[in-house]
Amino acid sequence: MKAQVKIFDTTLRDGEQSPGATMNVAEKVRIAQQLEKLNVDIIEAGFPISSEGDFEAVEKIAQTITRCEVAALARANPQDIDRAWEAVKRARFPRIHTFISTSDIHLEYQIKKSKEEVLKIASQCVARAKRYTPNVEFSAMDATRSDVGFLSSVVEAAIRAGANTINIPDTVGYAIPSEFGELIRTLRQRAKGIEKVTLSVHCHNDLGLAVANSLVAIQNGVRQVECTINGIGERAGNTSLEEVVMALHTRKDLLPLHTRVSPKQIFVTSRLVSKITGMVVQPNKAIVGANAFAHESGIHQDGILKEKLTYEIMTPESVGIPKTSLVLGKLSGRHAFRERLKELGYILSEAQLELAFNRFKQLADKKRDIYDEDIESIVVEEVLRVPHRFKLVYLNVISGNVTVPTATVQMEVDGKLKQEAGFGDGPVDATFKTIKKITRSKSKLLQFNINAITGGTEAQGEVTVRLEEKGYTVIGQGADTDVIVASAKAYINALNKMEFKKQKLVGM
Ligand SMILES: [Zn+2]
Repeated sequence: MKAQVKIFDTTLRDGEQSPGATMNVAEKVRIAQQLEKLNVDIIEAGFPISSEGDFEAVEKIAQTITRCEVAALARANPQDIDRAWEAVKRARFPRIHTFISTSDIHLEYQIKKSKEEVLKIASQCVARAKRYTPNVEFSAMDATRSDVGFLSSVVEAAIRAGANTINIPDTVGYAIPSEFGELIRTLRQRAKGIEKVTLSVHCHNDLGLAVANSLVAIQNGVRQVECTINGIGERAGNTSLEEVVMALHTRKDLLPLHTRVSPKQIFVTSRLVSKITGMVVQPNKAIVGANAFAHESGIHQDGILKEKLTYEIMTPESVGIPKTSLVLGKLSGRHAFRERLKELGYILSEAQLELAFNRFKQLADKKRDIYDEDIESIVVEEVLRVPHRFKLVYLNVISGNVTVPTATVQMEVDGKLKQEAGFGDGPVDATFKTIKKITRSKSKLLQFNINAITGGTEAQGEVTVRLEEKGYTVIGQGADTDVIVASAKAYINALNKMEFKKQKLVGM
């Protein structure tokens, strides 16, 4: 039996710290359900003390997920740990994940504590968490820039206090593979009791080395890797789950270890996370990018036609990329719609299905062929994207070459109906200015993009906007066959996300 590497997914915690990516509770629960289907070992559901929304999401996920461990993050202080436990305690397999910095630079400037204090705090906090659950993970933040002797003492203290997973994060993405492998080897030799616990790594991608560092750690005895779908996360992101899993899968000859992950669920999961967060996957992204399996050069195409193995190290089917996108249309019934949703990874309640199906029928009246991408948009917009404060009710725009673009907008704000009209340079500008008037938003528009979801002039337009307010950024998305309506939806989605984000009390 080959040794197993546990996959610890932190898409919902570190991934959500990607600039712009904010998810509401329903969206997070939906991603957690897909992660369970993907069969990861641990889902880090959030950082409960950071906001009411985070707490609620962790609590909901803990109650929903039955086949994976559910972890809650806590800084090394009693309030954080108690709050984390409060949120995660109803999980079938709960875990508390607590952390403190160990590098000189963090001790001096960020947490302003001595080494002795850090040792004591680490030990006390693990012990406190341990009173709640036997499943406690400890992380030494900024481990790769820490003195290895001190790091080793902190790790020992955490193990003595009862931690059963010890995580070594490359918090700032500074390590290079040979050095990181050496650090893991040294710790395994020096820290007493380390052989009794699961050793883990959490790498950031600032130098593009997160996956390489994680693999070298595995080769040196690490048995848990922390990662995210599409590699999203703080700054340049985290170790990409799909890359680590497929490297282990494809190079069994050199990496004789296995994970529990079902590779066939990778593509659906990647799409879902991209759709919900609004973080587009770059075309040349390994495993899940649009070009990952496209052969462009004549020589390569010729080779592939003769024998796939000439230029293909894994197949698109192995990661669940469908051969053809099935098309639905006006005459497709509820049953076909539900079946297609199931295949795309969406399992809806009757009420949700009703909502999505009505929208599907409306769309089919305007557009002949409905593709998978259209269906995904419908579910994300109509079912998962529960509006918080702001909801679009009515939009009428007049524009043309001899008129001043004018928008009339009716919205629900906290359940109350409000209406305004306004002018602008163009129809989108007029719409945004009017929405801004109604919502009294102070956000600045940083970016505005329109894409066609699928090919053809009758395709739905998908608008992405990025807003900034008081240093926070959020991404909003909206889709419609009318690009002005899509723009209004995207703008309102972003405003709702901003409201959600402003509730966050602390970052990490
Ligand atoms: Zn991180």
